[in-house]
Amino acid sequence: MIPHFLKTKQLLNLFFPKQCISCKKEGSFLCDDCLSLIEVNHFQYCLCEKLEKKNKCNCCKKRNLDKVFSATSFENKIVQKAIHKLKYSYIKELSIPLAYLIIKHLQVIDCQISNDFLLVPIPLSNKEKRLRGFNQSEEIAKIISEATKIPLFDCVKKIKETKPQRKENIKDAFLITRDVSNKKIILIDDVYATGSTMEEVARKLKESKASVVWGVTVAREIS
Ligand SMILES: [Zn+2]
Ligand SMILES: [Zn+2]
Repeated sequence: MIPHFLKTKQLLNLFFPKQCISCKKEGSFLCDDCLSLIEVNHFQYCLCEKLEKKNKCNCCKKRNLDKVFSATSFENKIVQKAIHKLKYSYIKELSIPLAYLIIKHLQVIDCQISNDFLLVPIPLSNKEKRLRGFNQSEEIAKIISEATKIPLFDCVKKIKETKPQRKENIKDAFLITRDVSNKKIILIDDVYATGSTMEEVARKLKESKASVVWGVTVAREIS
């Protein structure tokens, strides 16, 4: 069941014209002018905060996630607002410009994604998904999949409620539900901060014999 407040929000979206979250111009939730002001990263971080070209630094070598790509910086106020509105004001449509930023970033850094990769959004628990009405990472992944033809692959389930950024809590929160042996996987999420969620999903996937696990996010939060 969709909670009552969500229905109200969705109704409001129908009756009031869409307005850019940044400049307030009518027509869309993030207008082309404001979207074009968001700079995509021309570089790549290691899983930690070191800037790296191709390989992980020595400290990150043992981690299960092989690479991470973040389209832009969470410092950018428009990006921050767009992600916040997508997640907490339930403006699902904002997943379109956010997915566009990811696609643009992947083109800019020429990341060599071959066509045997699979897109896997970081899942929400059933309770979290019910509250929001959708999974923002899944919405972003769907658009990337449509644009790039990289197939979506639903193979991870979140089986435990977690508090964000609590490492001890995230352990064993995910379950691999399909055969991922020898598969190359790209995990999709909105923000990469400590990376503990992505690392835990990557750990589970590698445990189930996935060959490669990359992470791709809209924004990177540097502490
Ligand atoms: Zn605007
Ligand atoms: Zn590192």
